[in-house]
Amino acid sequence: MNEIAYKLHVDKVIETIERARLSISGHHIVKIVAVSKYSDTAAIEALYNIGQRAFGENRVQDLKSKSDTLDALPLEWHFIGTLQKNKINQLLEIDPTLFQSLDSIELAKALQQRLNEREMQLDTLLQINSANEASKHGVHCDAAVEVYRQISEECPNINLRGVMSIGAHSNDRQTVQRSFEATRSVYEQIEGDICSMGMSGDYELAIECGSNMVRLGSALFPK
Ligand SMILES: *Cc1c(COP(=O)(O)O)cnc(C)c1O
Repeated sequence: MNEIAYKLHVDKVIETIERARLSISGHHIVKIVAVSKYSDTAAIEALYNIGQRAFGENRVQDLKSKSDTLDALPLEWHFIGTLQKNKINQLLEIDPTLFQSLDSIELAKALQQRLNEREMQLDTLLQINSANEASKHGVHCDAAVEVYRQISEECPNINLRGVMSIGAHSNDRQTVQRSFEATRSVYEQIEGDICSMGMSGDYELAIECGSNMVRLGSALFPK
């Protein structure tokens, strides 16, 4: 795809986001995080060149190598993958803009200890397993408000900003909608300003359910 065709493609995505956010309110702002996990640095630069600034990766090594390669560009990097305890230090070396996938108290405690040692703070989202799917990471909705409160109290170096969730893995719109509404309900009960939900297949619905951050891979990086 040449640059003009690519820009038109991305504009279509942005128009869809605009329609969905305006259905909530003109004041409802949605941030786009471009998920570059299946894309190389040339593709990231191409998207940067048409205005995108925030990118997300789900493996610490990839986050490191891509952010190093593109160090000269003013990009924001988000970590959206499962974090193994033995990778915490590597993630903190990179110091991402937002760690979106804190998925347990145990991980929070390990992270807090490392942050404290380094005297640093990390903006973080609590990942919610909104459809209670065994294949997914995150805290179940029933426990999420309490876990969020506990991490806020016990982990002063983790700056909790809100919640992240992956919509239910289903072709049934109602099922996906219910999972977004469950996350939204948690979001309304906690102190935070980010509700990260919606991927390429379901971001319109996610925004209609209150998402203010979408994580888009294939929609922004067409093959
Ligand atoms: C891969 C991934 C995305 C983007 O997926 P697409 O369907 O390509 O948009 C979003 N969020 C998380 C956590 C991911 O792992």
